[in-house]
Amino acid sequence: MVGKNLEEVRSRIRRAALAVGRDPVGVRLVCVTKGIPTDKIQEALFCGVADLGENRVQEAAEKQPVLGRKPTWHLIGHLQRNKVKTALEIFDVIHSLDRLELAESIQKSAQTMGRGPVRVLVQVNAARAEGRYGVSPEQTADLVERVKRMDRLRLEGLMVMAPFAQDPEEARPVFRSVRELAASLGLAELSMGMSNDFEVAVQEGATMVRVGTAIFGERAQVKGEG
Ligand SMILES: *Cc1c(COP(=O)(O)O)cnc(C)c1O
Repeated sequence: MVGKNLEEVRSRIRRAALAVGRDPVGVRLVCVTKGIPTDKIQEALFCGVADLGENRVQEAAEKQPVLGRKPTWHLIGHLQRNKVKTALEIFDVIHSLDRLELAESIQKSAQTMGRGPVRVLVQVNAARAEGRYGVSPEQTADLVERVKRMDRLRLEGLMVMAPFAQDPEEARPVFRSVRELAASLGLAELSMGMSNDFEVAVQEGATMVRVGTAIFGERAQVKGEG
């Protein structure tokens, strides 16, 4: 099941990229595994998945001893400051850098831990959705400039979640605006697109898509954050 779904998602990514003249190799599939048991995730790893996305530090901390350090671990959920140190032990990339204090915490912890630069993406609340994490598009340049000056953070790009809509076309203007914002700031990576809208995201320039449900099916509700 997982293998077949993966094949399907990969071929949809490929088609979406080719349709706009992009090399599909430039799109990385981050397999979102929140709420998914490790045996199913292991199945995905056997099918060649190299990138895992988790929303919560605690959940990832429980799974990592089973799944190992070989995949690239992406933190895609909101990160509380008191969990930064643990997050830096577990994750290779943080997609959810959404405020200055968090950047400062990461800088400090990485220094204390003697860790090399941490790969981060700034999360933009491009659709200005209420209750959504992320900096507003207007504040993005300022945060980006500050983060660029922090030697323990390696800022690679921007991340966005489009508001859920039945019609994925509704996400297109959001993705496009984030691509333009990233280009204006000289940032190469674009983490955007989920199960319901990843093809549109790829057409609009996503370099990383975060897909869960289309690979594993519906999951049990995941509570909490960080
Ligand atoms: C859960 C989640 C995803 C994956 O969502 P699906 O609809 O299951 O593909 C992607 N990004 C973030 C930030 C998430 O929380």
